[in-house]
Amino acid sequence: METLAKPLTKNIRPDRAFTTLADYESTGGYQGLRKALAELQPKDVQQWVKDAGLRGRGGAGFGTGLKWSLVPLDDLSQTRYLVANADEMEPGTFKDRMLLEQDPHQLIEGMIIAAYAIQAQKAYIFLRGEYHVAKFRLEQALLEAKSKGYLGEHILNSAFNLEIVLHTGAGRYICGEETALLNALEGKRATPRAKPPFPLVSGLWGKPTVVNNVETLCNVPHILHYGVEWYQGLARGVDKGTKLFGAGGRVKHPGLWELPMGTPIREIIEQHAGGMRDGYKLRGFLPGGASTDFLLPEHLDVVMDFEAVAKAGSRMGTGVIIVLDDKTCPVRMVLNLEQFFAQESCGWCTPCRDGLPWTVTLLKDIIAGKGRIEDLDTLAGLTRMLGPGNTFCALAPGAVEPLQSALKYFRADFERYIAMERA
Ligand code: NAD
Repeated sequence: METLAKPLTKNIRPDRAFTTLADYESTGGYQGLRKALAELQPKDVQQWVKDAGLRGRGGAGFGTGLKWSLVPLDDLSQTRYLVANADEMEPGTFKDRMLLEQDPHQLIEGMIIAAYAIQAQKAYIFLRGEYHVAKFRLEQALLEAKSKGYLGEHILNSAFNLEIVLHTGAGRYICGEETALLNALEGKRATPRAKPPFPLVSGLWGKPTVVNNVETLCNVPHILHYGVEWYQGLARGVDKGTKLFGAGGRVKHPGLWELPMGTPIREIIEQHAGGMRDGYKLRGFLPGGASTDFLLPEHLDVVMDFEAVAKAGSRMGTGVIIVLDDKTCPVRMVLNLEQFFAQESCGWCTPCRDGLPWTVTLLKDIIAGKGRIEDLDTLAGLTRMLGPGNTFCALAPGAVEPLQSALKYFRADFERYIAMERA
């Protein structure tokens, strides 16, 4: 069998705008689905994905097969839902956009297999409102899939039925949080729900619901088609498979590349992104979107694996790196991020609603020359107050990650603003 080093992007080519159904089928598309429906029970599919070691690509890295296996399957008459989280709004992250726009059938096939594994009868794609091209291509692809018997009743002459509904969001970051997303789908205000119960027990309209990120679902057809061992063999590190890594900021070639899990960060920045633009030096980077902690050039040899990046003091998050150069002020960069997060707070819980604007006020004062050295302690205290366990969802704990690490690594930059005024 043909072996592939880049399954997720094998159909994405510079000489065509996107992958049609015929293109997709010509490279093995919908073969994973055929195998799942013809040869495997839902529990077998779950086991394959578990054995493959696929971990969620939205940022948190929860085991995908494990998540599916926790869905109650005892009462098959009960309604279950699958949701593809396509509300990609993490600042600096644009990986799902490429998959959605350029190979929509890959997501659709992944969703049908996932829905079969959890015996869901209905699935939703919750798409970021601004992803207009993706919306158009998904609409077309869903119609094509239905016309070829991949969707609808008795899929590929099996007993399995599935309907996929495309829903577009209205441009709020919080809708990417899975329980806020479920409220939005139900037509309610998008505020997060308490977890537990996790959505896989009580989700959409109180029914068991699996929410998976787009990139996660795009891995699934290949695991079924090419097998568990093949999938595990793709990686260079501890975590399995490949991942869309990216880099933005003042690098020579910002972009996205499908690379093995476990690829060193140095290789992504220096080789794939071409290193820093002439005249700029690398000062630090956020490894996986705006809601991760800064790392330094001394961390360049850390590999992109969930635990390795955590051990270095950050998170792999979405795997799309935001580079900080030596001519960008880290204090202003952090202010920019905190302004975004403060604006996107849903306001449901007090620490997030009041704490994030407070960080913005303090940072603005510092930059305006009105800061006091004690403000740095107040900011550090706020990062603890807004940390994990103190807020309703992950928005504020993620939001303070760049701030807490900037205070640690770039304290002199904060102090310089404060000293300038006192001088
Ligand atoms: P989480 O760790 O709480 O949950 C991750 C997933 O695992 C969820 O689906 C959750 O339901 C499930 N889960 C966790 N523990 C479980 C348990 N005990 N039993 C059953 N299921 C369980 O993380 P989260 O709050 O869903 O997401 C935070 C992440 O989102 C961050 O890592 C951040 O990097 C990322 N993020 C991504 C974007 C983006 O645009 N891709 C935007 C913002 C944040």
